[in-house]
Amino acid sequence: MNEAQGGGRSRVVILGGGFAGVYTAKHLGRLLEGRTDVEVELLAEENYFVFQPLLPEVAAGGIAATHVVNPIRELVPSARFRCCKVVSVDTEHRTVRVSQGEGLRLIDVPYDHLVFCLGKVTDFSAMPGVAEHAFAMKDLADAFKLRNHVVRCLELADIEADPEQKQALLTFVVAGGGFSGVETIGELAELVARSLKYFPRIRPQEILFKLVHAQATILPEMPQQLGVAARRILERRGVEMILSSRVRAASRERVYLHDGRVLATRTFVCTVGAAPNPIVKDTIAKAGFDEATLGGRRIGVFATDATLACAGKPGYWAVGDCAGIPNPNGTGLCPPTAQFAIREAKTCARNIVASIDGQSKTSFAFKALGILASLGQRSAVAELFGVKLTGFLAWFAWRTIYLMKLPGFARRLRVALDWTLDLFFPRDITQLQVFHHEHLHVHHYEPGEAIVREGQVGREFYLIVKGEVQVEAPGGGAAVAQLGPREVFGEKALLEDTHRTATVRASSPVDVLVMSRADFRSMVENLPILKEYFTRLLAERLPGAMSRMSQTASDVRPSMSST
Ligand SMILES: Cc1cc2nc3c(=O)[nH]c(=O)nc-3n(C[C@H](O)[C@H](O)[C@H](O)COP(=O)(O)OP(=O)(O)OC[C@H]3O[C@@H](n4cnc5c(N)ncnc54)[C@H](O)[C@@H]3O)c2cc1C
Repeated sequence: MNEAQGGGRSRVVILGGGFAGVYTAKHLGRLLEGRTDVEVELLAEENYFVFQPLLPEVAAGGIAATHVVNPIRELVPSARFRCCKVVSVDTEHRTVRVSQGEGLRLIDVPYDHLVFCLGKVTDFSAMPGVAEHAFAMKDLADAFKLRNHVVRCLELADIEADPEQKQALLTFVVAGGGFSGVETIGELAELVARSLKYFPRIRPQEILFKLVHAQATILPEMPQQLGVAARRILERRGVEMILSSRVRAASRERVYLHDGRVLATRTFVCTVGAAPNPIVKDTIAKAGFDEATLGGRRIGVFATDATLACAGKPGYWAVGDCAGIPNPNGTGLCPPTAQFAIREAKTCARNIVASIDGQSKTSFAFKALGILASLGQRSAVAELFGVKLTGFLAWFAWRTIYLMKLPGFARRLRVALDWTLDLFFPRDITQLQVFHHEHLHVHHYEPGEAIVREGQVGREFYLIVKGEVQVEAPGGGAAVAQLGPREVFGEKALLEDTHRTATVRASSPVDVLVMSRADFRSMVENLPILKEYFTRLLAERLPGAMSRMSQTASDVRPSMSST
């Protein structure tokens, strides 16, 4: 379906509701005030704008989650807002295809000027198991889930008798030594340190924080001296630095590094893995847009000129993380930061209006005023107007600057209040369980990891999607059965309400589809065909039957392989 054109008016369509999109729309609103010949429409997947630099504080419970978001309609009342998912861009007909509404109808939205502000996406696919088991730190839900998870780990550790399990619950691993990784580990360390007084059975020396970073110095975006200072501050607080190392894979209970190290943990936050937005990649490939390069490597963002126009494509603009904009200081491209996105948006809005009015455009000019990173516990590192600061002063500057940058007076007031209360009161350790649990999820395991342990209460049922597992003889003996793709295990303990009778261990990298006990039981009880199947399977897995070691699933020696 194609929407009606703007009745002779110029239509400026902005894709994305982050820093770049919202600030472009805000500036256009100001520049076009009182004019009826131009219509501005902003398209974004969520109806709110997230102030990402404060997400680590949300994850650490220092700020209430809703205080770092603003409804886009409230921020840019002058623009039309459409809550939808951008599916593709048709440059031939100058329309954007979106899916919207409850039925996810496909609609074509026409434009005269199109502004790409789609940012980047997170892609963990190069690291097996990371998508399934790691927390990201990109949007509000990530921060909110992480806070609840950390509190849950403390609750579980407080009552855990097994020292190995307890240590994994009290080990917090963050991958990525850039801003988001460093700020996240600093804030989490503060949350845990301030919560410990409520958990008498957890000793401070049992808590481990580990930061994994691919380079030799953290905070590579900052002057090296500040990266070194940040490292010292964090190390003094007990954060272990695992430098010049990369994550290879993750499972439910471990993080695997390329250098062979294995970190046992129940909390893994992965802040690496930023990838080009698929819509941007697709448009570059299909419509012949120039792609920006860095050090001779294509980086999946639009190459723009100094006016923010996409090279050689009149009417197309790109701002923020999805744009490769020449840095006015002559050193490559503008960094992908909010600070730059906000300033780029202003130049872009001005040039769009100049273009519509047939006037000359201006080049983007901006010198970063400073750079700051918070480390939690009232300390930070910063460079402001060329002056390097560390510790409390830097932290105070960080808070003041970010408070001023937060859009909307009401939000600023709420965050200021959160911060003031946080000075006098303990962190909130309420564990909220507001997320709908997925009924089915995939878990990844690396060779040697136990998926099911003998003696445990059966809580889940497993279907092998990829890879192989081995079933061990009771008492930790030799492998008695090998199971592969499309085979199942874990049914016995659920159907018979018993403990696990054997340990099942990954014998290769394995992905298993996991179903909860309640879902499994209600499926089996309500679907006669499944009931029949499992009755037969259990019978086949009774003592005396042959082991599947020697071929098929029904050959598994039941007394040892039924779990
Ligand atoms: C934890 C964290 C801390 C940070 N700290 C700092 C800091 O201290 N200082 C700093 O300057 N920068 C910081 N940054 C970086 C900064 O937040 C980004 O550079 C900035 O958000 C980029 O803005 P953007 O608008 O280009 O992209 P984004 O903010 O990513 O916005 C992209 C928008 O596009 C929308 N979108 C994407 N695809 C689609 C689609 N198919 N359909 C519809 N909508 C879509 C998204 O929903 C979103 O609204 C931080 C980032 C993170 C994650």
